[in-house]
Amino acid sequence: MRDETLCLKGADDENAEFDSLVVPVHRASTVVFRTVEAYQRRREAIYDGYSYGLYGTPTSRALERRIALIEDAAKTLVLPSGFAAIVATTLACAASGQCVLFPDNAYDTVRPFALNFLAGLGIRAVFYDPMLGAAVGDLMTDDVSLVWVESPGSVTMEVQDVPAIVAAVHRRGAKVAADNTWATPLRFKPLQHGVDFSVCAVSKYLGGHSDVVMGCVSVADEALYRRLKDFSRYMGYGVSPDDCSLVLRGMETLAVRLDRSEANALALAGWLSEQAFVREVRHPALAGNPGHAVWRRDFAGATGVFSVFLHPWTRNNLARGVEALQLFAIGASWGGTRSLLAVLDGGPTRSATPLGHDGPILRFSIGLEHLDDLRADLIQGLAQFGEAPRSGSPPSSMTPESLP
Ligand SMILES: *Cc1c(COP(=O)(O)O)cnc(C)c1O
Repeated sequence: MRDETLCLKGADDENAEFDSLVVPVHRASTVVFRTVEAYQRRREAIYDGYSYGLYGTPTSRALERRIALIEDAAKTLVLPSGFAAIVATTLACAASGQCVLFPDNAYDTVRPFALNFLAGLGIRAVFYDPMLGAAVGDLMTDDVSLVWVESPGSVTMEVQDVPAIVAAVHRRGAKVAADNTWATPLRFKPLQHGVDFSVCAVSKYLGGHSDVVMGCVSVADEALYRRLKDFSRYMGYGVSPDDCSLVLRGMETLAVRLDRSEANALALAGWLSEQAFVREVRHPALAGNPGHAVWRRDFAGATGVFSVFLHPWTRNNLARGVEALQLFAIGASWGGTRSLLAVLDGGPTRSATPLGHDGPILRFSIGLEHLDDLRADLIQGLAQFGEAPRSGSPPSSMTPESLP
């Protein structure tokens, strides 16, 4: 062959004896076939094999298998973001004329998605009190095809009675999807509790290093996987093998990162709940958290994300106190190695249940720093909030409980 051809073709099919501990990054748009027949049957390969880079590579399939193992799932599908996973699951289950139930504390993009996008498709959305449990059954009109749970819910951290909700929803022939981003499958396995779709924002703990955006959906039923995969194809969803490789790496340390974040968070949540500027700390492992008993019953442990409800008087010096922190960056995502804090004022939007809190909220994601440094930073920073006025209500008396 001539040089021009060798530049393209030279040495590309050498199979050297090489093995390593790392799943290789397989980049591809085009996938090639050995035979004409295999090419003509390529569409059948989108579910389990390889037909085109968009539909899966050995790197994305390896990640899907790894997540499926910890989810106790038959199949996992990776998607371009956690929100894409929520969209794919919702649209795989709901069509025009049907209704989807969402918990009132759902991840914040869910509400505009429901009101602006699902409504336009003729899909009705109803937001329900996350603490309803089996009483969700009373909301099951004939048009409900899917019920979402998010446990604990974003910001307000209510733990839902998922088994009771699943029983009530399945009795009416509808499906249940869980946003399990907070717990990860290491702390709660939705499919073992009867949930049909277990969704995680991989961008958070599974990726774990604040550098990847990805989501996943896991199912126990192969037919649901095929429905999701078809939908994903019609939407043109695909995931980069480089990103999958980062998540495969991130997952190797998931268990130790969660243990460290959890321990740091429990210590800081307990300490924060005793401070005069704090009205209430919301973390599922605290005895006073809504649904704490259900958390003890169903979860294998906790993670490092929790919320602190501040007294309204802290508002005056809120920015000064938060900006004085050296180890807590201000940011909305979470689940990375570094501690992070989101500042919410005006509270999350709710329509089914009032929040019952009119002060600012700090949502913490505790990272892997040393606890002593984190505590010292909070002491110096949050001291800027100043003294409680004499009429202020007393601090919360909640205490962290030992893990189940
Ligand atoms: C971040 C998050 C999502 C969305 O994930 P992205 O990958 O950022 O799209 C969904 N649900 C919960 C609970 C989240 O925290």
